[in-house]
Amino acid sequence: MLMSEIIQLLPDHIANQIAAGEVIQRPASAVKELMENAIDAGGQQIQLIIKDAGKTLIQVVDDGCGMSEVDARMSFERHATSKIKAIEDLFAIRTMGFRGEALASIAAIAHVELKTRKTEDSLGTVVSIEGSEVKKQEPCQCTAGTSVAVKHLFFNVPARRNFLKSNTVETRHIIDEFHRIVLAHPNHSFTMHHNSSEVFHLRPGNLRQRIVGVFGKNYNQRLVPVEEASDSLRIHGFVGKPEAAKKTRGEQFFFVNNRYIRNPYLNHAVISAFDEMLPERSFPLYVLFIDIDPDRVDINVHPTKQEIKFDDERLVYTFIHASVKHSLASYSVTPTLDFDQEQSFNRLEAFKTTTPGKDPQAPAVSPPIKPEWSARDSANLKNWRDLYDIDEGGNRKITIPSAMNMPSDTEEEEQLEGERLYDDTEKIPFQLHKRYILSQIRSGFIIIDQQAAHERILYEKYKDNLEKNKSLSQQQLFPQNLELNAADAALMNDLLPEINALGFDIREFGRQSFVVQGIPV
Ligand code: ADP
Ligand code: MG
Repeated sequence: MLMSEIIQLLPDHIANQIAAGEVIQRPASAVKELMENAIDAGGQQIQLIIKDAGKTLIQVVDDGCGMSEVDARMSFERHATSKIKAIEDLFAIRTMGFRGEALASIAAIAHVELKTRKTEDSLGTVVSIEGSEVKKQEPCQCTAGTSVAVKHLFFNVPARRNFLKSNTVETRHIIDEFHRIVLAHPNHSFTMHHNSSEVFHLRPGNLRQRIVGVFGKNYNQRLVPVEEASDSLRIHGFVGKPEAAKKTRGEQFFFVNNRYIRNPYLNHAVISAFDEMLPERSFPLYVLFIDIDPDRVDINVHPTKQEIKFDDERLVYTFIHASVKHSLASYSVTPTLDFDQEQSFNRLEAFKTTTPGKDPQAPAVSPPIKPEWSARDSANLKNWRDLYDIDEGGNRKITIPSAMNMPSDTEEEEQLEGERLYDDTEKIPFQLHKRYILSQIRSGFIIIDQQAAHERILYEKYKDNLEKNKSLSQQQLFPQNLELNAADAALMNDLLPEINALGFDIREFGRQSFVVQGIPV
């Protein structure tokens, strides 16, 4: 019986497109690859230029070593790399790239124009490629170094193109990649332009200066240095002071041998070193560099090289944990309960609950109103009083927040059909861990998360205001200035209409700064 052969080698352009699917998921991936190439090429000044969140243009210009005419063409071949020559090299990698896939992948799914010149050559080379097809290669006049412009990313992969997120989201991803690269290379200079406005202008300096350059001047006081070394490991960098921890995870960076990695296990090593110092559900900043003998890690486990394997992960964990703990202790970073507004709701410790069995009419411990409490604090206190119906003298007339749909007043109870939810014989709720309210109802009990309940009430109120368009704004006598970092500023700009509809009056005021002219009544 004759069998016809059915296995074929994939044509290169298809193989490249498949590889591109792993390496280039979104504009930010191309940004990462191009910037890493610029650094590998010894570039000192690196410019990133973006249009429409990278959907229209991603360009990286460097002043690095440049490429010869032949290399310029070769660089787009798959598995074309100048960075490894033998398999042993793979275990001693010092460059960011080494798989020789990035340019080939990008060229398979976009229009790419490469201009490059080696310092010693008088003429450079320009190469244009569209979907792996070389359209042009010729000598050209250009400055020394390399410029790679990527246009119409995913022009031939509609599935990818259609699944790109909004410009805000994609820009956010690009800025995340940019952060990772610029933090790992503080002695290089970087600029980033988006739609012809300058987003970052970072001069060479030390790590502290770079962190401040990226995230803003006010970060300078928040940084606690970490520096420790053992025979096989070295760690250096900064952790943020606990009280400066944020509600979002954004500012956490691990670099192993100067390569950004994600690793939940090592993240835990840092976070747990903070112990109890962190306000709940908040994330401290960290920018930590771990140096380890390259043959004790495998960085080649994933095409984007963001995951790595250690030969002894537990050792690394213990080392990081101890180092961070040591730093926090020696800078005597003690928990200061200077929480921001949202957390001031936690001040319910002000109302120490009387234990059940005691006279419910007995005054609760009166709230320790410290003289330095601001008007905002007392407003919050009032909110709490309203929420738990505590009168000025600290006496409780317990009601359950209406937003929780828990009827409490007798009139309301009478409206209830069927079984009454609420047992009016014993209305003394019990507070647990200063966080939860445990209350009896006829069919059992309910547990209320105080903070969540309060947030929900406010949420309902604001939502109602938004829907009815009745948010009132109160003009500030002294408008406040708000300096944000580039990423937050982009987010703020995006959300401004909604925020202002809530009764704020916030306006953009120059690059990355805003002025708060009014707040909700
Ligand atoms: P890799 O970085 O893994 O080697 P790439 O596809 O990213 O693979 O790049 C292929 C090769 O092209 C690199 O090894 C390098 O020799 C060359 N190259 C790419 N970008 C630049 C650049 N900006 N300057 C000089 N050479 C570059
Ligand atoms: Mg590369």
